[in-house]
Parts: sequence; C-alpha cells; structure tokens
Amino acid sequence: MKDTFKHQGMRQQLVETLINKDIKDKGVLKAIGKIPRHLFMDSGFIDHAYQDKAFPIAADQTISQPYTVAFQSELLKVQPEDKVLEIGTGSGYQTAVLLELGAKVYSIERQKELFKKTSKFLPKIGYRAKQLIFGDGYKGLPVEAPFQSIIVTAGAPYVPNPLLSQLAIGGRLVIPVGDKVQVMTLFIRKGPKEFEKHEFGDFRFVPMLEDKN
Ligand code: SAH
Repeated sequence: MKDTFKHQGMRQQLVETLINKDIKDKGVLKAIGKIPRHLFMDSGFIDHAYQDKAFPIAADQTISQPYTVAFQSELLKVQPEDKVLEIGTGSGYQTAVLLELGAKVYSIERQKELFKKTSKFLPKIGYRAKQLIFGDGYKGLPVEAPFQSIIVTAGAPYVPNPLLSQLAIGGRLVIPVGDKVQVMTLFIRKGPKEFEKHEFGDFRFVPMLEDKN
C-alpha cells in the first residue's frame, strides 16, 4: 500500500473542505494533511478515503468522518507531551491525529478483532501510542490518570463518571452524548468537584457499548 502524489493532492482538497467548514486549528489541519487516511480503510473503500465521510471498517464499526475527527481534536486543545486518553481506537485514525499533535496517547478498544488489527497496523506506518489497550472504555484507565484530555469516539448514552474523575484539573473531556443522535459535549475540569459544560450540536456515532467483546 502506497501513498502517492494523487493521494497527497486529494488530502489537500480534504483540508480545504475542512477549512471551509470552519476548522481553524493549524495543528489539526496539518495532521489531516499528513496522515494517509486511505491506509486505514479496507481496500474496497480506498477511492473514498479523502471524501469528508465516515466509512465502514472491520467488525461493523466505522472510521469517523474527517470533519468529526477535526472538530473533536480542535476541542481538545492538545499541547505537545499532554497525556491523552482515547476511548474507541477503531481504525486508529484519530489516534494518529493525536500523535501528530504531539500527545502521549493511551487508547482503549473493546472489540478484539479491531484491537488486534490496529495494534499491528499503527506501528507499521510509524505511529506509536504509549499504550493500546483491549478493554472497556467506560472504566477509563485509572492506573495512568490524570489525563490532560480524554476523547470518546463512540456515542455514549451517558457520561461515565470514571472519565470525569480521571481528568487533570484544567483537563478537557470531549464526548458525544445521546442515543440515536449525540450532542458533542465538552467538560472542562475547574476543580476537584467543579466541571464546566459546553455543548456543540448534533453528531452521529456508533454506540459506546458496555464491557469488552
Ligand atoms: N476513532 C475511531 C472511531 C471508531 S468508531 C476511528 O477514527 O476509526 C468507535 C469505536 O469505539 C469502535 O471501534 C467501537 O468498537 C469502540 N467502542 C465502543 N464502545 C467502547 C467501549 N466501551 N470501550 C472502548 N471502545 C469502545
């Protein structure tokens, strides 16, 4: 699998599309302009890789729409060396964006097949997370807490308390909350028991499921 000039050109067009949709964070745009998204998808879908659309990956899951990845990443305000927890590794594309932003990434996936596939694939193209974990994201990762930011990439029916409590003071949790449609929600931890909440409109994700599988 190669990254060609054609792919690079298509990626620049995708970056233009995201700028037109009001994504402003330079680091996020640069990451999306750099990461070969077509390599994260099954071969049949490669021609679609640089459209601003979600697509099926293994195990009935999807690689999130580039706009959604960009929007969530922008809300996280990642600084280099930040410890970031991702729930829902999936294809690893969002993981790669976080790594490009300079974060130390811990990512949890509950689906064994995807976990195995992505654990092999990411290092192959040069992306090294601190840890990829097969587990249940509802519990977070208490041994590595606190995190400067936490991103959930599946639709959560409610906000899991462990995720709020594993945020550093000043830390940010970006989580789509809801059943059929999710409201993109940002929590900023202001103090041990104090959280600020902001909402950013509707998105659609595959569901965040309990327990690992
Ligand atoms: N960030 C991914 C999005 C994948 S879709 C990408 O860009 O490809 C959401 C992922 O969340 C799926 O892989 C799904 O299996 C996973 N998921 C759902 N519930 C989970 C849970 N409780 N813990 C960890 N992962 C979960």
